[in-house]
Amino acid sequence: MITLESYVQGAWRAGDGEGRSLFNPTTEEPLATCSTAGIDFGAVLDHARDTGGPALRERGFARRGELLQALSSAIHDYRHELLDLSVKNGGNTRGDAKFDVDGATGTLAAYAYFAKEVGDCDAFLPDGEGVKLGRTARFWGQHILVPKRGAAIHVNAFNFPAWNMAEKMACALLAGVPVIEKPGTPSAMVAWRMAQVIVESELLPEGAFQFLCGSAGDLLERMGPQDTLAFTGSSKTGALLRGNPNLVRHNVHVNVEADSLNPAILGPDVDSEADAYDLFVANVTLDMTQKAGQKCTAVRRILVPAERCEDVVRDLVESLGRVQVGDPAESGTRMGPVASQSQFDDVRDGIAALAAEADVACGGADPIRDKGFFIEPTLLVAREEARTVHEREVFGPVATVVPYSGAADEAIALANRGGGGLVASVYSNVAGWKREVVLGISPWHGRVWIGSDRVAEQALPPGMVLPASTHGGPGRAGGGEELGGIRGLSPYLQRTAVQGFQGFVGPSFGGSWSEG
Ligand code: NAP
Repeated sequence: MITLESYVQGAWRAGDGEGRSLFNPTTEEPLATCSTAGIDFGAVLDHARDTGGPALRERGFARRGELLQALSSAIHDYRHELLDLSVKNGGNTRGDAKFDVDGATGTLAAYAYFAKEVGDCDAFLPDGEGVKLGRTARFWGQHILVPKRGAAIHVNAFNFPAWNMAEKMACALLAGVPVIEKPGTPSAMVAWRMAQVIVESELLPEGAFQFLCGSAGDLLERMGPQDTLAFTGSSKTGALLRGNPNLVRHNVHVNVEADSLNPAILGPDVDSEADAYDLFVANVTLDMTQKAGQKCTAVRRILVPAERCEDVVRDLVESLGRVQVGDPAESGTRMGPVASQSQFDDVRDGIAALAAEADVACGGADPIRDKGFFIEPTLLVAREEARTVHEREVFGPVATVVPYSGAADEAIALANRGGGGLVASVYSNVAGWKREVVLGISPWHGRVWIGSDRVAEQALPPGMVLPASTHGGPGRAGGGEELGGIRGLSPYLQRTAVQGFQGFVGPSFGGSWSEG
């Protein structure tokens, strides 16, 4: 058993008391403990604001971009060790572990690249073109984006310990704002090791990076108006944090990335001969089983024209049956356990709740091994009037087929019943039908992914979050937005309208770079 320490105020620090235990979800063996008890969170925030912030801002956007590239390379050097930890503490297969760890280094590198877009801006980014405000161009306006003077507090989910930390960190650091990173505790070993690598690399100025392993304590109570909270996790915790009276009192910017009942919609034109159909079966299978379904973007509701349901369910069951479930450390295994005892209990409860209104086509809530948190890939078929499928996220290898008529308006209405989602995937080769569905579901989904014969060979799967596209969604998905290239810096930058004499405002604050 090891003790995972936090890195605060320039030193590694073990919290007081026994703290929380972390386990190997395959064997249930305890691996580590961590605690943040006794840490002075006010001092942690001050260290970020007073030491890290000025040092980062001094470096300008281009130099901070170079730092991100160097960080990406430094972490990549420890790739194999991080992958091993991810298998051990996260129950990930090696492929799942790469998705997280390579996603982290890839996103840091992508932001180093985006930094080049903004050129050699130093203290601010011009936002769009200047505009004539008065009778003549003498009185002029220009929007600028300036780094906030606070700290970025990042509270992350257990399922992507590496990527979640890196994608948030990339945006805040590039914006010039120091970070305080807190991973989800059950799988924190990967993030903790990454934090060690970051600190040992000495790439970042003192105070730019701090790391909390364990509870966030009273950190949120001590945040102020220039700080930013970016949270990823369940909508229940997201709502709790957003409602924190101190954050409300100071109007702290809070970005919430929460859960989602992501729909996959099979168009009525896509028959089993179409390339888009093979893509659909492959993507649904991947989403349900990659990281044992513990992906915020994984498909939960599969909308299938009723007349095609029997065939589609047969093909999906066959495809899921080929996924070997077992010890993720073994090379033939395609799906490991879920990450913790509480996940295991929650997924089993969720399957039982879904099954009260649906038929189980394969899998089920019964444990499949004596030890470890293993759940079989579970496909259900909703009965008419099923409600739970549109209300409850079961965060495991579980999805439900929802039969519909094939009409665009019905597909739209069902997809939107999820109350706001991260990603919806639409499979069709008919332009008119696709266009209607895309426009009908877009207000309720942060990303719409369109599969067709034309992209079948090239499309990256819908569950993959890419740094160049925004990630987030309205309603139950949290109402937040991350990534999307330079747009991802927004939570950490203040947009200010500067107004005055054109001869001063234009040359001082204007520029050709514009967001988006
Ligand atoms: P969670 O239980 O909501 O926890 C998320 C984070 O919040 C953890 O770091 C947790 O810390 C922390 N936390 C919990 N209560 C807190 C409090 N009172 N004050 C401060 N921090 C608090 O979610 P999870 O089980 O880790 O993750 C699974 C969920 O995340 C799923 O619902 C999934 O859909 C969602 N998710 C969303 C996205 C997205 O980008 N939209 C990505 C990944 C996952 P501890 O671990 O120490 O309790």
